[in-house]
Amino acid sequence: MKLPRHLHAFVIGTVCAAWFGVASAAPDERIAALAAKEKPALLETLKQLVSIESGSRDLEGLDKIANLIADKFKALGGQVELIDPTADAYRMEDTPEKIGKVVRATFKGTGSKKIMLIAHMDTVYQIGMLAKQPFRIEGDKAYGLGIADDKQGVAVITHTVALLKALDFKEYGTLTVLINGDEEISSPGSRNLITRLGGEHDVVMSYEGASVREDKLSLATAGIASVSLNVTGKASHAGSAPELGVNALYELSHQILQMRDLSDPATGLKMNWTISKSGSNRNVIPAAASAGADVRVLKVSDYDRIEKQVQERVKKQLIPEAKVEMKFERRRPPLEATDASRALASHAQQVYKELGRELGADDKVAGGGTDAAFAALKTKAPVVERFGLQGFGAHSADAEYVLIDSIEPRLYLAARMIMDISRGKAAAAP
Ligand SMILES: [Zn+2]
Repeated sequence: MKLPRHLHAFVIGTVCAAWFGVASAAPDERIAALAAKEKPALLETLKQLVSIESGSRDLEGLDKIANLIADKFKALGGQVELIDPTADAYRMEDTPEKIGKVVRATFKGTGSKKIMLIAHMDTVYQIGMLAKQPFRIEGDKAYGLGIADDKQGVAVITHTVALLKALDFKEYGTLTVLINGDEEISSPGSRNLITRLGGEHDVVMSYEGASVREDKLSLATAGIASVSLNVTGKASHAGSAPELGVNALYELSHQILQMRDLSDPATGLKMNWTISKSGSNRNVIPAAASAGADVRVLKVSDYDRIEKQVQERVKKQLIPEAKVEMKFERRRPPLEATDASRALASHAQQVYKELGRELGADDKVAGGGTDAAFAALKTKAPVVERFGLQGFGAHSADAEYVLIDSIEPRLYLAARMIMDISRGKAAAAP
C-alpha cells in the first residue's frame, strides 16, 4: 500500500516502537506456563493423530481423522463444518475420484481481525505401515508416520486454540482453522477453498513443520509442476521381426536425455525426470513408454518459460514414426515473499526473542511446495509458512519425528502472534 510520506514515517515509527517494546519484553509468564501445561496434551493428540492412517487416497482413514479433529474443535467451542471438496476439484492426472473432506472450524471473537490457521491431515504413506511404526517417544523425539508432515501442524493449532481458550482470549474477530486431507496430492479439492478463504482473512499462518537444523519460518515455497510424456510405437517380435516395430522405449530415452539439462540454478528452476515405464515382455519391441518429470519454480512466470522450452524440445524426435504426447501440469503455485509477510515474520522473531530464542525467517526455497501458496494467490495479506514444530524425515518412510523441545516455544509463538495480530500490534492485511 502506498502511504503519504508523513503517514508512512508515522507508521514506521510506530512499528519500530512496537518492535523495540517487544524486543525488550520478558516472556509473558502466563502464556509460557499455559504452553508448558499444553505440552503433554499436545503429545497425546499427536499420538491419536499418528495412530490413524490417513494417506491422501484412504477415504476411510481420512474420514476417521477428520471426525477426530472436528470433535476436538467442537469441544473447544468452534463452529465446525466438514466440507466435501470433490465437486469443486481441479482434476490432475493422479486426482482420485473422491477426495477427503476438509475440516473448517470457526471461532468468533469480540474484535475485528480475521486470522486463518492451516495444516493438513493426509500423509504420503500406504495403509498397513502404521503397524510397524506406531507412535513412540525416544528422548527428545516423538516418532510416527506423518508426525512432522503434517500431523504436528494439526496438533499445534489444536492446542494453540486450547491455550487461548484457557486464557479466555477472544479479541480476534474470526479465527478460522482449516485442515485439508489432499495436500500430498497437490490439494486438488481444497485449493479453491484455501485461495478464497485466504482472500477473506487478514493473516494466514501455515503450519508445515520447521527443520531440526534450522528453527525458522518460510516466506517462500516452491511452485511445482509436472511433465508427462507418453510415447506410442508399434509392437513386433524382438527376435524375428524387430525392424517391423517402432521402439517406444528408444524414443522415450531420447526425449529424457534431450530434456535432462533444463534446470536453471540462476532462477531456481529445477526439472528432473523421476518416473518411467515401458515394455511388457523381453521378446517384444515395446509399443508404449511413458515418463514423468518433476518441475520446481520460484516465480509464477517461470512456469511459462519452462513449459515453452519443453514444448520446443519435444518436437525433436529420434524415431519420426513414434507418436509423442506431452502434458504440462501446474500442480502448485510458488509462494513469493512480500513486504507484508516479511513484517509478520519480523514480529514473530521479536516474540521468539521473549523466550531468549532466535527464530530464522527467509525466502530460501528448499524444494517443497505447500498450501500457503494457494492461500496467498489472491490476497495482499501476509501468508507465512512453517509455524509448526521442528522435525525431520517427511516422506522418509522410517525416520519421521518431531522435536519435543520445540512444542512450548512454538505454542507460545502461535498464541502470542494471534494475540498481537488481534490487537493490531502485528502486521495484517495492508
Ligand atoms: Zn505437508
